[in-house]
Amino acid sequence: MGCHLCELACSVTHHDVFDPGRAYLGIRSVYVDDGLLVRASLCIGCDACVDACPTGAVSRENGGYVVQRDLCTGCGACVQACPQQVVRITDGVAGMCDMCRDAGMPQCVQWCRPGALVVAG
Ligand code: SF4
Ligand code: SF4
Repeated sequence: MGCHLCELACSVTHHDVFDPGRAYLGIRSVYVDDGLLVRASLCIGCDACVDACPTGAVSRENGGYVVQRDLCTGCGACVQACPQQVVRITDGVAGMCDMCRDAGMPQCVQWCRPGALVVAG
C-alpha cells in the first residue's frame, strides 16, 4: 500500500528521526499501465558492500551488516556498489541493514501493518 511506515521505523531505530531518506530500505511508487505499482527495495545480503569497501569497514554479522566507524572514511564505494540502493552515508559514515540487531528484531517487519514484509528463512 506504500504507507512508508517501514522506512520510518528503520530511520527512527537507527537515527532517532523519522526520515525515509535515512532508512536502509526503500519503498518506491511508480505509475504503470494498470495503475500505481509499489516496489520495495531491501537488502538482499549479496555482500557487494563488503567487497567494495577499500578499508574493510563492512562485515556481515547475524544476517545483517556492521560498519566499523573508525575504519569508515565515508568514501561511498558501498553506496555505489549496492544493487538495491539501500546503503546510506549519514554524517560521514556508511550504514546499511543490520537486521536491527540492537532492537532485537527487524523493525520494518514489526511495523508493517498489512504483513507485507517477512523475514526470509
Ligand atoms: S563509505 Fe565507509 S563502509 Fe562504505 S566503502 Fe567507503 S569506507 Fe567502506
Ligand atoms: S531489518 Fe532493520 S535495518 Fe534492516 S531494513 Fe528493516 S528496519 Fe532497517
